Amino acid sequence: AKETGRNAVQFYAPHMNAHATDRLALEGALRGALREEQFELHFQPQVDLQSGRVVGTEALIRWRHPHFGTVRPDRFIALAEETGLIVPIGAWALRSACVQNRQWQRSGLGQLRIAVNLSARQFSEPDLVQTVRQVLEDTGLAPESLEIELTESMMMADVESAIETMCCLKAMGVKLSIDDFGTGYSSLAYLKRFPVDVLKIDRSFVRDIVGSRDGAAMVDAIISLAHSLRMHVIAEGVETLEQLDYLRDCGCDEVQGYLFARPEPREAVEPLLRQSRVE
Ligand code: C2E
Ligand code: CA
Ligand code: CA
Ligand code: CA
Repeated sequence: AKETGRNAVQFYAPHMNAHATDRLALEGALRGALREEQFELHFQPQVDLQSGRVVGTEALIRWRHPHFGTVRPDRFIALAEETGLIVPIGAWALRSACVQNRQWQRSGLGQLRIAVNLSARQFSEPDLVQTVRQVLEDTGLAPESLEIELTESMMMADVESAIETMCCLKAMGVKLSIDDFGTGYSSLAYLKRFPVDVLKIDRSFVRDIVGSRDGAAMVDAIISLAHSLRMHVIAEGVETLEQLDYLRDCGCDEVQGYLFARPEPREAVEPLLRQSRVE
């Protein structure tokens, strides 16, 4: 809503200045962060419940700010999304994650998989498929080792074009997952049409397993539903042994959460990948 003359003065009323200035400052800082390479990835292990092994990690972005320290993504992803800066930031994250995973595989960690979060803006970029193909080619990572995490709202924004993009990625061999499942608004009719391999049960459902019979029933139902659609299930935000036991009883395939490990920088996560056994 850019206007000139008198209206502009009204639009930029004094009480709005602080807010607008904050946003501008943050936007500038984000641009600087890209230029100065202040972003880094942390990695959280994903554990296979049958073998007890770490089979992959999820890459989660962090901003190492020179004054404010480590900034979590919920503080800056939304603005990056609004300003479009998420596109270069997301491209950086995708590439870095693939480089790191390829390096781990070469160092003897075998079939390790890497999951990367995509933003809505990235997902609707016309050259997304080409970007992914190029990153895989440049890094030498097998497409099957890359899992791309999408959310229901991203898929529902434009269903037909989302399905088309997903099919192109699938055709390449890349794995697709639905992140935060259950918190969006996708209908079951669509779920069947989305070519996804993995369904990630949102943390809010996992939290409700213990102490709520309905919560537990919900998780059981989601797992059955996913399996009947031939999808793999990962439970997020697993923090307790009770949750773990219940998920195992329900036939959940993989778990991820503080019970096993927090997202950590490369050096800290590597020993876990090497031991790779969890009881
Ligand atoms: P998400 O994809 O749902 O990631 C899971 C979040 O839950 C992460 O927060 C993770 O640190 C946290 N978490 C993992 N296990 C547990 C647990 O047991 N208990 C609790 N309480 N929390 C747990 P984080 O790292 O702050 O990331 C927040 C969100 O930022 C992510 O949610 C994702 O939507 C977004 N994000 C992170 N990295 C990227 C990225 O590279 N690109 C894009 N577009 N978004 C990203
Ligand atoms: Ca995620
Ligand atoms: Ca999630
Ligand atoms: Ca989330």
